[in-house]
Amino acid sequence: MKLYKRLFTLIALVLALLAAVFITLQGQDGGLIGPVDVEPQTSDGQQIPVLAYHSIKSAEFYYPINADNPWILLDDVFRAHMQYLYDNNFTPLTSNQLINYLYHDGGLPQNPIIITFDDGYLDNYLFAAPIMREFGFSGIVFLITNAIHDVSPEMAAYPTHFIGLDGILASQDVFEFGSHTHAMHRAVDGVPPLAFESVSNIRADLRQSFAGPLTFTTGFDYPHGLASDNAIEALKAEDVLFAFITRWGYVNKNTDPFLLPRFSIESTMTMEEFSEYVWGRLEIE
Ligand SMILES: [Zn+2]
Repeated sequence: MKLYKRLFTLIALVLALLAAVFITLQGQDGGLIGPVDVEPQTSDGQQIPVLAYHSIKSAEFYYPINADNPWILLDDVFRAHMQYLYDNNFTPLTSNQLINYLYHDGGLPQNPIIITFDDGYLDNYLFAAPIMREFGFSGIVFLITNAIHDVSPEMAAYPTHFIGLDGILASQDVFEFGSHTHAMHRAVDGVPPLAFESVSNIRADLRQSFAGPLTFTTGFDYPHGLASDNAIEALKAEDVLFAFITRWGYVNKNTDPFLLPRFSIESTMTMEEFSEYVWGRLEIE
């Protein structure tokens, strides 16, 4: 019996050693950090679902050219999501509330949630902000700061039109604005810049982005949802405290603040799936 116990301990030790070597090797290539195991829920049962939206358009701009794009939602669908959250007493968190929770034992409301938007499209201001305002909700928009430019509302029909300074200033009662890099969003030969740029280049881009019209610089959103070792080092050096990737999962006390998971909300999702996500009932593989 004793022999079996020793043998078991030995096998466990060898496995742990192999895992450590594997993790170290993975971390050294400076490449993208891929899927990792989802952290178990904390003993207090608290966890935060984080929603990642992109574009929200009214019917006039949604049909027909944008109806097949999974990243663009009809405003009525977005409204149904917000109505569901409102009816079920969800409370959207601000960046400061998230930081207090992650770093300072700050408490959470009963049904916490975080509502984020990637890239900073003009339609966030035109169509999402008024709906969120009706429900008294707040959200976080992550801007590609070199894409900010003023365009006429008619241009919102096109999927790639970005919010301008006017829109940013006029929706600060609803949105916080954070960085999604300045000029490091566009993939080069299919590879996102954060995968190969040096720490100093990423820091320079961050500083340029932070000089833009943001309302906070303590949080960040990785382009394409992909973190890298260099990006994490650069973020820490620029005093950023949290960053979102795009991988399904929930944020809790055990989550690495620089690898916060989110649910990408696509137009093909049903209301039933949406409710599974927000109640934390989704099985993460
Ligand atoms: Zn993006």
